[in-house]
Amino acid sequence: MARGSPDAPAITGVVLAGGLARRMQDGRSDIDKGLVGFRGRAMVAHVLERLAPQVDRLLINANRNQDEYRRFGHAVVGDAIAGYAGPLAGLHAGLQAATTEWVVTVPCDSPFFPHDLVARLLQAAQADGAELAVARTGEQPHPVFALVHRTLLPNLEQFLASGQRKIDRWYAPLHTVAVDFPDPAAFSNINTPDELAALERPDAPFPVSLPLAEVERGTEGFDRKALPVVAARAIMERFIAPIDSPEQVELPQCLDRILARDIVSPIDVPAHDNSAMDGYAVRGDDLDPQAPTRLVVVGTAFAGRPFDGALAPGQALRVMTGAVMPTGADTVVIQEVVHTEAIEDAAGVQAVIIPPGQEVGQNRRHRGEDLAKGRPALRAGKRLTAADIGLAASLGIGTLSLQRRPRVAFFSTGDELLSLGDAPVPGKVYDSNRHTIRAMLTRLGVEPIDMGVVPDRREALHAAMLEAGRVADAVVSSGGVSVGEADFTREVMAQVGEVSFWTIAMRPGRPMAFGRVGNAYYFGLPGNPVAVMVTFYFFVRGALERLMGASATTPATMRVRSRSAVRKRPGRTEYQRAMLGRGEDGIIEASVTGSQGSGVLRSMSEADCMMVLGHDQGSVAVGDWVEVIPFHGLL
Ligand code: AMP
Ligand code: MG
Repeated sequence: MARGSPDAPAITGVVLAGGLARRMQDGRSDIDKGLVGFRGRAMVAHVLERLAPQVDRLLINANRNQDEYRRFGHAVVGDAIAGYAGPLAGLHAGLQAATTEWVVTVPCDSPFFPHDLVARLLQAAQADGAELAVARTGEQPHPVFALVHRTLLPNLEQFLASGQRKIDRWYAPLHTVAVDFPDPAAFSNINTPDELAALERPDAPFPVSLPLAEVERGTEGFDRKALPVVAARAIMERFIAPIDSPEQVELPQCLDRILARDIVSPIDVPAHDNSAMDGYAVRGDDLDPQAPTRLVVVGTAFAGRPFDGALAPGQALRVMTGAVMPTGADTVVIQEVVHTEAIEDAAGVQAVIIPPGQEVGQNRRHRGEDLAKGRPALRAGKRLTAADIGLAASLGIGTLSLQRRPRVAFFSTGDELLSLGDAPVPGKVYDSNRHTIRAMLTRLGVEPIDMGVVPDRREALHAAMLEAGRVADAVVSSGGVSVGEADFTREVMAQVGEVSFWTIAMRPGRPMAFGRVGNAYYFGLPGNPVAVMVTFYFFVRGALERLMGASATTPATMRVRSRSAVRKRPGRTEYQRAMLGRGEDGIIEASVTGSQGSGVLRSMSEADCMMVLGHDQGSVAVGDWVEVIPFHGLL
């Protein structure tokens, strides 16, 4: 715990965990809210972690399970007045126990309070000469988030002695300052098992599921007609709640799936201290730092075949890489630097001569050094790689808890579309989007549901959307959102869900629809084949990963030199199809591929990266540095 400057007044943080938590009981009476498990730890641990950097000292106010609370390493005080008298009783106990000038209280079930809570309360109290500062968002006071001067203790004692218990009553006559904070959600607390479950995922939105219009309003830079790419992404991220329905899956089927729960190591890895090299295990104390040391070789240990017995002074053990270190030995000398000789009169027994200059402890791997028992080996939200699969196996774990794959329905819209197998017709085009989308969804690891081509007819679109919103977790469609067609789509969407139509400040891919239809999130992509891919990669992919319960990832970007000149005006993000190569000086360069028309799929197919020209950027000259995202890993 370390706060600002040394001359700042000292503050004790009091975590209020003294209540009965009736709404958390769920029919049981033994649940203590602060100790309830949340995201892999006790609830109170989250609160302590957030408060610790803001104060000088911590106290926990608890009336039950005090020993368990003590395990968090801070003093625990119970109420001095009987009968679970609420937060004021906790504050009272805290003020009595604290020796600092100020005490700040936070409840044990609010793990999201602001990181600058205490600093702002203190600043306001000092500026106002107040003895008490209380957090507020809008009209809503948060009286249990309070900074209280120690001189208020006698006043509080009197108040409690008169039989009163209400915290806001106590505040009323005092010189109090209300301190405004922007985000009401930060002060929410977790009261019921349902809320707890809904928030279990580390990135669950809080509070859970706001209406889309509200999310849009609360997003910086929101402008439906010229929506910056970052703002569109932020809206999706805040609107989409991850699926959390784990299923048990055998290791061979786990590759590329999303881990639902942390994997905690059931063992130490390695399980024993062992040798990192082929050589001789010795006692470091035996080694002469100045001269060669002669030790008697008492046996051999192989990986998987330990030596039983301890090493006595003067002895060495021949060891192979991975062999368990014998008791007594702490150092391994590699075989290349020693020599051995037969010991006279002792048939078959050898001595090993070790040169000076060895370091005690060298070439030994410690038990648990890669991974200690009880530590998380893999975190929930990880997309499992080959290494992760191997790691799980190395811990003896053969079944993992994975998030189920979301079902994603997709269809194309347009009267001009031909399906594969249809004979070519003048004026019509083959539906390629559905196949591109299916391929991208498959790569992402969701379960694709092909709903075919939907004609440009109100009833057909209506029926398709209803069906998709019933069977899927998400729906992706192409076409029908551009200005000419949007009116018609808009009417249908208004009937079936909550969908917003955006013009995104990007190229290609300006029009897009987003929202919710039935039980599914909806992504209405443009019709142009390249725009479909770009909007999928830069919006849908991240959004579906979030839905899948995956931790947020950003595609890897590289800064490379441009071999092409590109005209661009600030105010929108542009994605240019490009190819990587090397300049004569060996530096990696990108050149833009042929026509960048948003219908030209061929130049997408030729490209191996996307050049991303940011919102505020202007034109690019040959030789300028630009950002690219290689397709490797995306496609
Ligand atoms: P839209 O956004 O529906 O106006 O479509 C824009 C352009 O993309 C038109 O030229 C369409 O013919 C074309 N397009 C729309 N959907 C598809 C599709 N599924 N496959 C290929 N091209 C399409
Ligand atoms: Mg169309």
